[in-house]
Amino acid sequence: MRNLDRKLVAGNWKMNLLRQDAQGLMAEIIGMLADEESRDVRVAIIPPLVHIGALVQQAASDKRIGIGAQNCSDKVSGAFTGEVSASMINSVGGKYVIIGHSERRTYYHESDEQLLNKTKLVLAEKIKPIFCCGESLTDRNSGNYFEIVQQQLTNSLFELAIEDIKNCVIAYEPVWAIGTGLTASPDQAQEMHAFIRKLVAEKYEDAIADQTTILYGGSCNEKNAKELFALPDVDGGLIGGAALKSRSFVDIIKALP
Ligand code: PEP
Repeated sequence: MRNLDRKLVAGNWKMNLLRQDAQGLMAEIIGMLADEESRDVRVAIIPPLVHIGALVQQAASDKRIGIGAQNCSDKVSGAFTGEVSASMINSVGGKYVIIGHSERRTYYHESDEQLLNKTKLVLAEKIKPIFCCGESLTDRNSGNYFEIVQQQLTNSLFELAIEDIKNCVIAYEPVWAIGTGLTASPDQAQEMHAFIRKLVAEKYEDAIADQTTILYGGSCNEKNAKELFALPDVDGGLIGGAALKSRSFVDIIKALP
C-alpha cells in the first residue's frame, strides 16, 4: 500500500550559487510551483548555510517548501571555530539537515559516531535529518552493497530510539551514481529501497517502516524521475545537479506520483 505522506523531493545545492543567484533560483522555483503544481507536495531546498535565513523568508508563503542545511556540527555549542549547530539552523527557520552525504563521509572523514551525534542534535531541535547511505563502485562491483548499507544504518541511525527514527528521512545514494550520470536502474533502486525498509521493520516495527520516507539520490533528473518515483519503495529524490535548474527541478517534483 502506497503512503502518500512519505513523498518528498529535496534539492541539494551543494557549494554553489552566490546570494543573488540563490534567491533568483528560489524565486523561479516558487513561481513555477505556484503556476503549475497545485498538489500537496513536500519540497526541501538545501542551499549553502549562509543563504538559509534569506531563503526561509523568501519561501515563507509556500507551505510546501522547507529550507534545510547540508550539514551541522556534532557538538551542541562552544569553541568549535567554523562550525554551525543544529540549534542555529533551527533558529533561522531550517527544517531539514542532510547528514552523512558521501561527500562529507569521503572528504571530511565523518565517522558513524559523529553522524549519530549530529542526527540526535537535529532531532532534538525537532527538525528532520535526511540521513544518507550508499555504497561505492567497488562495493557495488564486489557484490557486498547490502552489507555496506546495512552497516552504515546500523552503526549510526539504528542507534536511535523508536520515537526518533519516526522523524528521520533516509536517502539511498549509491556513490557511483552521484554526479556521474550513471543512475541506478529501477531494479537496483527498488531492490535496495525494499532492503532498507525491511531493515527498519526488523529493527523497529512494520508500521514505522511503512511510514519512513526513503529517497533515491544519484543522477536523478527530469527524464528518469518518473520511472524511479513510481517504484513501490522509492518515495522521492535527493537531487544534486538537476536541482540547480528550476525547470528540471520542478519537473522532477511533478514526477512524484
Ligand atoms: C547528491 O549529491 O546528493 C546528488 C544526488 O547529486 P546528483 O543528483 O548530481 O547526482
